[in-house]
Amino acid sequence: MSARFKVRAGKSRIEGTGVFAVEPIPARRKIGELAGEIISQREARRRAKVRERIAIVEFGDGKALDADSDRLMRYINHSCDSNCYIRLANHRVEFYSRRAIGVGEELSADYGETHHVNTPCRCGAVNCRGML
Ligand SMILES: [Zn+2]
Repeated sequence: MSARFKVRAGKSRIEGTGVFAVEPIPARRKIGELAGEIISQREARRRAKVRERIAIVEFGDGKALDADSDRLMRYINHSCDSNCYIRLANHRVEFYSRRAIGVGEELSADYGETHHVNTPCRCGAVNCRGML
């Protein structure tokens, strides 16, 4: 288990499977992190092309993380008005709460700056940028 607070998978209001808080999460706390394989950016882009759903995060130094599919944290959906943020450090991808999150709330993070994909965004936020 890679989450520090109790979370569960469930049907997302944004897309597909999402992650929901089972207990209250205070603001600015580490919720969990992705686990997976560290690969080169070139390999990351090759994999991203052939997969429908990707959970690859580029670090900007030529390396990327391809997240394990059995980890709950990878199902955190993107939102342009997110309640979590992603911190990249030492080839780790950590999720922190941006604000206090209540029981039953879906967790979301802004993937815009970390995932290099070009897909329409359906987050529904007032300030939605329209694209991932
Ligand atoms: Zn959006």
